[in-house]
Amino acid sequence: MVDLHGRLDDVVCLGCGERRSRAALQDEITDANPAWRAVAAPAPDGDADIDAAAVEAFVPPRCGRCGGLLKPDVVFFGENVPVERYEAAKAALADADALLVAGSSLMVYSGFRFVRQAHEAGLPIAIVNRGRTRGDDLASLKVEGDESRVMVKEYQLDPVTHQLLHADFYQLAMDKAITVTVPIVLKGEPKGVKLQGGLLDFVTRDIQVQCLPTDIPEHIDVDVTELMLNQSIRLREIAENPKWKPVTDVDTMIVHVVMPKAEESAASAEAAAAPAEPEVAKKGKPEEKDDKK
Ligand SMILES: [Zn+2]
Repeated sequence: MVDLHGRLDDVVCLGCGERRSRAALQDEITDANPAWRAVAAPAPDGDADIDAAAVEAFVPPRCGRCGGLLKPDVVFFGENVPVERYEAAKAALADADALLVAGSSLMVYSGFRFVRQAHEAGLPIAIVNRGRTRGDDLASLKVEGDESRVMVKEYQLDPVTHQLLHADFYQLAMDKAITVTVPIVLKGEPKGVKLQGGLLDFVTRDIQVQCLPTDIPEHIDVDVTELMLNQSIRLREIAENPKWKPVTDVDTMIVHVVMPKAEESAASAEAAAAPAEPEVAKKGKPEEKDDKK
């Protein structure tokens, strides 16, 4: 997601360019202007009527780093979208299968041109915005509503035209944990493969976890370097993370190193001769879990 025209919930310093959250700054503004707590009465249109004397006495916040002027991190009318951001959006679109516009009327060309480009490239376009947008005629899906965190539950593309036929969304409460499926990514080459000729069997490639919508891991890394022949990693061994907790059964086998099939029968013949050995090996657990804390 590219915030093409910036974010009202961020503040940027005009001096040094440092960004910070508007919510954090709010406390400083309130502390520096204690009298303002009382004067601001919200008007029906959402503005606040404040008397001139209070405005005169207002102490504006300054950048904590350089003392510079602060401004909401949004592109005001008359300003241009920063070049890097424009390039980032352009690159993302060149790589995209679809375009989602969230919370924009697209009335300025800097936003609308991406819709046009997507349309020319034959990409499906979805728009979530309250009220009319300049891109409505080009959109295959228009959702009338406020922009909010949603996740696509399912969608259907026309197999021929690739037009978006149908999409279901979940609306997310940002403070409520949700259950998501997250892919597992293996890191390293197991010793059991490199030194013992075993085969890496990646049994469970994604798991379900519960987490806040802001904490959804893109993937979960599992280091398999120390894994020897007949050793495995189960979910419980990688499940320690403050940001998410597993929904999938923690006894689920994620990955193990096995004997290649052809050699397995030879090995079990050997095992019959000396039955104790493989049993012990099977119980061995990888010893790298302590590094993860
Ligand atoms: Zn600054």
